Amino acid sequence: MTDTPDATTRTGDTSTVDLTTPTWEYAPAPEARSLAHIPTTRLFIGGEFVDPVDGGTLKTVDPSTEEVLAEVATAGPADVDAAVRAARSGAETWAAMPGRERAKYLFRIARLLQEHARALAVLESIDNGKPIRETRDVDLPLVAAHFFYHAGWADKLEHAGYGPDPRPLGVAAQVIPWNFPLLMLAWKVAPALACGNTVVLKPAETTPLTALAFAELCREADLPPGVVNILPGAGDTGAALVAHGGIDKVAFTGSTEVGKAIQRQLAGSRTKLTLELGGKAANVVFDDAPIDQAVEGIVDGIFFNQGHVCCAGSRLLVQESIHDEVVERLTRRMATLRVGDPLDKNTDVGAINSAEQLERITALVAAGGDEGAEAWQPACDLPDRGYWFRPTVFTDVQPAMRIAREEIFGPVLSVLTFRTPDEAVAKANATPYGLSAGVWTEKGSRILWMADRLEAGVVWANTFNRFDPTSPFGGFKESGFGREGGRHGLAAYLDLAF
Ligand code: NAP
Ligand code: MG
Repeated sequence: MTDTPDATTRTGDTSTVDLTTPTWEYAPAPEARSLAHIPTTRLFIGGEFVDPVDGGTLKTVDPSTEEVLAEVATAGPADVDAAVRAARSGAETWAAMPGRERAKYLFRIARLLQEHARALAVLESIDNGKPIRETRDVDLPLVAAHFFYHAGWADKLEHAGYGPDPRPLGVAAQVIPWNFPLLMLAWKVAPALACGNTVVLKPAETTPLTALAFAELCREADLPPGVVNILPGAGDTGAALVAHGGIDKVAFTGSTEVGKAIQRQLAGSRTKLTLELGGKAANVVFDDAPIDQAVEGIVDGIFFNQGHVCCAGSRLLVQESIHDEVVERLTRRMATLRVGDPLDKNTDVGAINSAEQLERITALVAAGGDEGAEAWQPACDLPDRGYWFRPTVFTDVQPAMRIAREEIFGPVLSVLTFRTPDEAVAKANATPYGLSAGVWTEKGSRILWMADRLEAGVVWANTFNRFDPTSPFGGFKESGFGREGGRHGLAAYLDLAF
């Protein structure tokens, strides 16, 4: 190992601060790509892998190399209809089964997920572009945890506070995005099954592989036919599923734009709906916060998963008196982030999921510069092929700028300042979104005061981006409605007529 000084400097008001940072030159530590097993790439309907009747195919690529990983069958309207019918017939046995029996299947799936965790982590990393350190240490452990947690509820639903004999809704249509493909599947499928529903799930167009691998695990677990159905496809497959008259529930995670369209489409129908949509979270740092810890939280908040996180701490609100110090320490820390091969165990920031998303990030960053904010990026080399974006921080940001208002969904942080707690709350809430927020302060009373006033479904205190299946997650305002996880999340999958 040799230490190489990074050549980054930053010009302050009175002096040039040398941010020369000794960073270790690590030897490559790649996880074996051969561990990933490409699953069967056909539709999973009624417990079988089948060819589409009126669908087509899509190619899914590794965004870090642009290599095509697989050609995957997609579902057309007739396939959607077949899957909904299979789910309806599966619902008869599944809903009638005692909770303790359903729990056995969920426990079995959870254990299979753990057994196959390493291969699934590699598969997720190559299909999505996210670092193996995250798929291995965050995504997969949480995926298994969601199934274990909900297996525990399956035979205790009458104690959940939803009446003496809570009943399932029936067939749930579930549409998920590409940023946490298998984890979003777990958030949707585990509570639905625990409550006695059956599901038809559409994974995102760019990341269908781990959902198909999950279908293989359902077969290995001997899950009764029709309980889980997986239909890869693009937006039109999602639209056909949501529009199908035979479903009882729609659970959608994705953009606010598509969420609103689904809400309009279902208005007046008896189909129950939950929406988990976008965000523009404020991460609020007070002058009494432990700054080094806060800097780690800021980095986790926006650079975790390349910033492809609905609850990312994309707006940093710093108390004015510590602005310069926080920005200096933050840029110093950013200069040590390792951007590159998602399968390298040293990588902190992987590839952007698609060319389309890279274009969107690039356009919003250009708008930030045009509107007068100042961008800073560490001087890191990017691979020649694939979709990449350097971690970026904007200072001199005004609340009216697009980078302060719009969800960028990439590794881009906008820094704003405040003087008083009231101003922090006003600025944090000045967004149509309301998914999450962070507060950094030594004072417990201030944490509670802030949490009371922040319009956000989750408020993290002296941490950020922590997830747990026991804790409900969901939004306010244009970030959606309904909760996933915890006791509250069960309500989304139960027929609560009382
Ligand atoms: P998106 O375009 O809304 O897509 C989400 C899913 O909906 C995908 O499977 C998509 O298929 C499908 N879809 C597209 N058009 C549809 C339609 N008209 N009817 C039904 N389904 C349709 O969102 P995205 O760009 O993939 O994901 C990023 C967004 O998700 C961000 O805004 C992020 O904040 C949000 N998100 C929210 C949460 C949360 O829990 N609140 C979690 C993760 C992500 P295709 O893949 O073919 O487009
Ligand atoms: Mg892909």
